[in-house]
Amino acid sequence: MSMTPESIEQDTVDSRRKPTLRHLLEETDRFLLAVELVTSRGVISDLAGQRVLSHALALAESDRIDVLSITDNPAGNAMLAADTLGADLRAHGQEVVIHLACKDGNRNSLETRGWKLASEGFDNILALTGDYPKPGYGGMARPSFDIDSVGLLSMYSEMNRGLRDGKGRRMKPTNFFLGAVVTNHKRHERELVPQYLKLRKKIETGARFIINQAGYDARKDDELLRWLALYGLDVPVIANVYVLSLGAARAFNAGRVPGVVVTDELVVLAERYTASPDRGRSFFLELAAKQVAIARGLGFRGAYLGGKLDLADCEEILSRANKFGPDGWKTLAADVNFAYSDEFYYFEHDEATGLSSSEVNGALVASRTNAARRRARLRTPVNYRVSRLAHWAVFDPEAPLFDVARRFYSAVESAPVLARKVLHLAEHASKVPLYNCKDCGDCSLPEIAYLCPESQCAKNQRNGPCGGSHDGLCEVADRECIWARAYERLKPYGEEDSMLDGPVVFYDNALRATSAWANTFLGRDHQARSAAGQEDVK
Ligand code: SF4
Repeated sequence: MSMTPESIEQDTVDSRRKPTLRHLLEETDRFLLAVELVTSRGVISDLAGQRVLSHALALAESDRIDVLSITDNPAGNAMLAADTLGADLRAHGQEVVIHLACKDGNRNSLETRGWKLASEGFDNILALTGDYPKPGYGGMARPSFDIDSVGLLSMYSEMNRGLRDGKGRRMKPTNFFLGAVVTNHKRHERELVPQYLKLRKKIETGARFIINQAGYDARKDDELLRWLALYGLDVPVIANVYVLSLGAARAFNAGRVPGVVVTDELVVLAERYTASPDRGRSFFLELAAKQVAIARGLGFRGAYLGGKLDLADCEEILSRANKFGPDGWKTLAADVNFAYSDEFYYFEHDEATGLSSSEVNGALVASRTNAARRRARLRTPVNYRVSRLAHWAVFDPEAPLFDVARRFYSAVESAPVLARKVLHLAEHASKVPLYNCKDCGDCSLPEIAYLCPESQCAKNQRNGPCGGSHDGLCEVADRECIWARAYERLKPYGEEDSMLDGPVVFYDNALRATSAWANTFLGRDHQARSAAGQEDVK
């Protein structure tokens, strides 16, 4: 066989191609190192693009860096697509992860993107809901959030099985290795537990690896692995270690990056060390090294370094982390312990290690007794209790009056348009004052404790909370996250742990401005479609 210059070049790339993430996580027990890359704004041949590319290629040259992970319009800003940079890195044999967020494109564009990524050989996809968009060309972008991270995992998992074409035949399967994120550094029970539950849903929906959101509390990271073990969820988790600078610490502390928490105490430390001659470099690298050492000791499958880092920084962090030795991490927890004084933990504190014990939080257990739940029920809003009653009596498919309502709406289907309009108007008029209904036609009230995702969630989340809440408040609007509120409504009824147990919800835009009640009783909404099987959705 004759060798062409192209085939020689390809053989060279193949011979130096790094092991795949899938291989590392599923066939080895090696603690891997991933580094996050943020693309620039503008074409890759522009000065900023070339800077990012040469930085990325320098990282790719290192044998100590296994994976480069490329963000997708972080913090809601428009940037160069991750796959443009990724293609160059793959051509150099580098294993990459492509972040894919749902904020800028609807399900069709995400499917198209999936075909493109699969065709170009990108297997590792990190599915994200995404930060709320920032102002762009000509003003504020209209966010998509047509589907969310769970919906994306569901769709790409189905692509791995082979989506069905218009004739019901399976198309060629993709080979995505899907990952997801958990934002585990949450302050309150009503934020943290729903994050864990959404993590479980992501894993059940197809996530094969997890990267947690950055945080600076080793006990919370220990707890994450314990929670997964408690629920029998065996999935590799890579620890996010965002290497701070003073600017980053202040931005996180001010809540400018959704979901990342830096306490006042850590900002004060950052300020003090930044006043030193090395501008705090040694302090920040040492903190990161401790986080890496703890992550390795706890059983995370790798470290995910973020921040403004060059290769020398990454290597120094690794060298420092290695100096702690196999057991040295056990004494480090006190140094990575930046939590709020009222921080909620799922497990009790282990005084000996400063980390988590395996004993579930006693106050949490006490709040889950039947007596405590009965007392808490009295504090739930009246309209919530009435809504539950109405659901139990009429709207649940097993409800005593469901069949009566179904027959009524069947008859109305053949009534004059005016009669249907009047009925729809009456429905909407009753739901606006109660739920601030936006007439989406595909109602998710029963799944979110009678809180409307269209009017009260900036990202219209129907499969659990995004990671952006701060102290229980929405990252976008100055109001409580609906999923935190839903958790508090469901807990008195003992339903909080199963709040995300239903099928993945895909909102059907074809139903907008139609009667949600008619759609429920006549089997047209997402609940009925789920019951009929997801394969019939398309
Ligand atoms: S029909 Fe849609 S917009 Fe109206 S309350 Fe239900 S979820 Fe909200």
